[in-house]
Amino acid sequence: MGCEHEDLKMNLMICMRGEPDQLPFLPEIAELGAGIELGSYGLIGVQSERDWEARFARHQAVRTQFQGTIAIHGPFIGMEYGHIDHLIRDVVNHRLDMTFDVAVKLKARRVVLHSGYGREYDLFKMKDLWLKNNVGFWKQGIGRWADAGIEIALENETDQVPDLLVKLVDEVNNPSFGICFDIGHAHLFSELDASEWVRRMDHRLLHVHLHDNDGKGDCHWPLGRGTIDFEPFYAALLRHAAQATISLEVEDKLRMEVKMADLRKLAAHFTSKQRSTGVSS
Ligand SMILES: [Zn+2]
Repeated sequence: MGCEHEDLKMNLMICMRGEPDQLPFLPEIAELGAGIELGSYGLIGVQSERDWEARFARHQAVRTQFQGTIAIHGPFIGMEYGHIDHLIRDVVNHRLDMTFDVAVKLKARRVVLHSGYGREYDLFKMKDLWLKNNVGFWKQGIGRWADAGIEIALENETDQVPDLLVKLVDEVNNPSFGICFDIGHAHLFSELDASEWVRRMDHRLLHVHLHDNDGKGDCHWPLGRGTIDFEPFYAALLRHAAQATISLEVEDKLRMEVKMADLRKLAAHFTSKQRSTGVSS
């Protein structure tokens, strides 16, 4: 296949909290064809009702000025779906209802949630129970999101391999339900190559959290500051999961200009629409 051309276009997003100093960048984000993943419910919004409302107000301010695709990063600490404890299930459901409400009001197309699988389930040999409870939870729960045109992408946290998430997605078997792969988390907790993660997740991969670290902490550094090798990962994405959105999750405390520099680089990398991959033509 000497003259094969590969379409290098990937959907891009940038994660932000919607702070006022980020608003001037909205036109450029739109111009780059990128979407916005709005977060901060997880570490700030959950602390009080007032904090939740304040986050939502900031996100609404973004939404009124930005017509592109919006995703929401939902709360994650303590959010275990299909929890064994019925009282905890009630609280988790309540918080998830609030997340649904926010996503609908912001006309989000996707919500990223952490899978809720942790080391405790390995320790107490409860992996099978976790899978059964989560399949039950999401089979029953995905309907309202799908009806609202919202996809759920479950993110790896301390997972060493993608296999459990892959099984969950296959058993729930709904096109609105898939995986968010956080390459930084995998770099910390998994021996498996990121490209192999992509190969195993394949069509189930909806969303990627892209950021760098040194393998020692979840630093959310700009790309290139740490030890993650991104080029083979990009190639694997184009090959197995070109449908996925790459969402730049470089830490929000950094100046927006630093994050934008990475977004510009990504956009330049992935929008050279027709680039020869074989013998020059
Ligand atoms: Zn992430």
